Amino acid sequence: MTHVFGPVPSRRLGYSLGVDIVPRKTCTLDCVYCQVGPTIEKTIERKQWVDPDHAFDDLVRALSRGEQIDYITFSGSGEPTLNTSLGVLLRKIKQISSIPVAVLTNGTLLYLPDVRRDLRGADLVVPSLDAVTPKVFDRLNCPHAELDVAKIIEGIKTFRKEFQGSLWLEVMIVKGVNDNRQELERIATVAQSIRPDKIQINSVSRPAALHGIEPASPEVFRLALKLFGKPAELIDEFNKHSISDSLEETGQRILQLVKRRPCSIAQIRQSLGITEAEIEKRILNMLCEGKIQEIRHEGKKFYKGL
Ligand code: SF4
Repeated sequence: MTHVFGPVPSRRLGYSLGVDIVPRKTCTLDCVYCQVGPTIEKTIERKQWVDPDHAFDDLVRALSRGEQIDYITFSGSGEPTLNTSLGVLLRKIKQISSIPVAVLTNGTLLYLPDVRRDLRGADLVVPSLDAVTPKVFDRLNCPHAELDVAKIIEGIKTFRKEFQGSLWLEVMIVKGVNDNRQELERIATVAQSIRPDKIQINSVSRPAALHGIEPASPEVFRLALKLFGKPAELIDEFNKHSISDSLEETGQRILQLVKRRPCSIAQIRQSLGITEAEIEKRILNMLCEGKIQEIRHEGKKFYKGL
């Protein structure tokens, strides 16, 4: 089995060559929104979960194909900091490649000095912070019994002070779980005290596939952007072929249409031939930017350009 996948277009990193160094769904958490599925091995034990030489050989082979790669990214189907070989692998990658290396982590083990030491070899670390109160943390992230959210937050703060590279904080907002003003304010206060380079506010992207888990409303994202302040941004679907053009063009086409007459998502899809998922993303952005408004007619949602 290969430990390397891609390069895949990623929401935030461009073309990302993924490196997966734990077996499928080996994680410290079991987040309700996890797209990989339920956690199979919930653990906080750090060990050599996969053979690092095997993973490194897979990576060397993938790099030799000469494809465009913007980031080498430790991520995949579990929590990469559970692997004690992470630091060694980061050092070995730096010896053979100048491509920036990112680690997407749930941040739960950053209270451990050896994890923070291992991560020093990365260019970018992206920890998650979806909750700051134990009740919300338990409900949203279903953590391993020995994890404590206050300790995790302290770990992220300590790491920020020690780490010379970029740190982006990711916050996933889920309807009915952490989308209330009180929790958002608390997360925002903690997030700002960490002083990340960016705060990426994320939304559940495939609601239909995730039983009962729904994205929060546009009002909530608008509020979150306000509360989280300047380093915050909404993550949008990736389109490498001129991301700004694509976002701009698609958004403009939708805006022109709904300025002429209010439309439902289905009507926009019929008129413009764009997928519903893509329309929903643009709609969310434009609602947050105050360019359109949602109106209801006979129980159905329509969007109107302002
Ligand atoms: S931390 Fe990531 S891999 Fe682990 S359960 Fe949550 S979403 Fe899934």
